[in-house]
Amino acid sequence: MHEGISIPVSSPSITDLELDNVAEALKSQWISSMSPYVKGFEDGFSKYVGVRHGVATNSGTTALHLALAALGVGEGNEVIIPTFTMIATANVVEYQRAIIKLVDADPHTWNIDTDAIEDQITDKTKVIMPVDIYGYPSDFDKIRKISDKYGLTVIEDAAEAHGAVYKGRKAGSLGDIGCFSFYANKIITTGEGGMAVTDNKELAEKMAWLRAHAFGRGGKHFWHEELGYGYRMSGLQGALGVAQLKRLENFVDKRIANAKLYNDLLSRAGDQVTLPPESKDVKNVYWMYSILLKSKASRDGMMKFLKSKGVETRTFFYPIHHQPYYASRYSNMTFPVSDSLSDRGVNLPSGNQLTEDEIRYVCENILEYLKGEKS
Ligand SMILES: *Cc1c(COP(=O)(O)O)cnc(C)c1O
Repeated sequence: MHEGISIPVSSPSITDLELDNVAEALKSQWISSMSPYVKGFEDGFSKYVGVRHGVATNSGTTALHLALAALGVGEGNEVIIPTFTMIATANVVEYQRAIIKLVDADPHTWNIDTDAIEDQITDKTKVIMPVDIYGYPSDFDKIRKISDKYGLTVIEDAAEAHGAVYKGRKAGSLGDIGCFSFYANKIITTGEGGMAVTDNKELAEKMAWLRAHAFGRGGKHFWHEELGYGYRMSGLQGALGVAQLKRLENFVDKRIANAKLYNDLLSRAGDQVTLPPESKDVKNVYWMYSILLKSKASRDGMMKFLKSKGVETRTFFYPIHHQPYYASRYSNMTFPVSDSLSDRGVNLPSGNQLTEDEIRYVCENILEYLKGEKS
């Protein structure tokens, strides 16, 4: 480890604002999901996204699961997801015993390849679940065109894209239901937590009901007509969320400024480095500032070199079709773009507390490593 230097991939930013809110929640005894802080967080965050209803949960995974459960997706149904994603996107489909149909990534956006979606649609398909990878929204114009044509529902996995924008609309508002995570390394955090947002009142009520054990209505409390879940968010998490929400726009601005500095410094590496996706239609929020190197050997070598300098990095996701739990189902299929991203991609330090000096230090070391590789 380099003398005294330690730059993490991600670190949350917790200030007096968060401390005061959580202390206030404790003092007021509003600690369960009945807390006004949870309602306040649901209202504030859904309004920020530009959607009518928010259903707060205890994780991003459970928000996605609630969305599928409320839609009645189950055995015999098919759900289309990108293979290049975090494992939870696939697991929630598995929880409902539905069939996971995988689509390769687009080489430019790293999101689901919209030209390959229709090949996977059958008469069993119910849902398309695109993921806004690393904070860059998927191509929803094309996705909506396909979902309209086949009468499918779209669940946006926006777990990594708080504050991102696609053609003037915020991530999370681009499908029928949008799902967020507030895990500690996400753009805003409640420690653990999540939220499903939607304009559809009926779906919102169904998700809120299933979230809390589907308790009986009309006076018959301990009476359960459907399978419910223990997916509630606590009042302490809500209090933390309300404070983080106030700072979200600042976090986003800082991440964009940081990415610009990274881009400027790393463009000196020429074609040895592929910078993150960019488009005039999209506001990327860089949940993970991520680059591609020319080969797996180069990526692995660079990660090792940076580690010796005190810089933490992460590989990209291993695609779903390679995950030990799922791989055997997809052994006759190939997903070359996802494989290439997974082999060559690296997440650089991207947290809310990252400083300009730290970015300069990271980039100096990347350039030094690549210079050595060239000679
Ligand atoms: C983080 C994440 C999730 C899951 O969120 P948790 O809060 O950890 O359950 C789901 N999908 C994607 C794409 C994620 O990055």
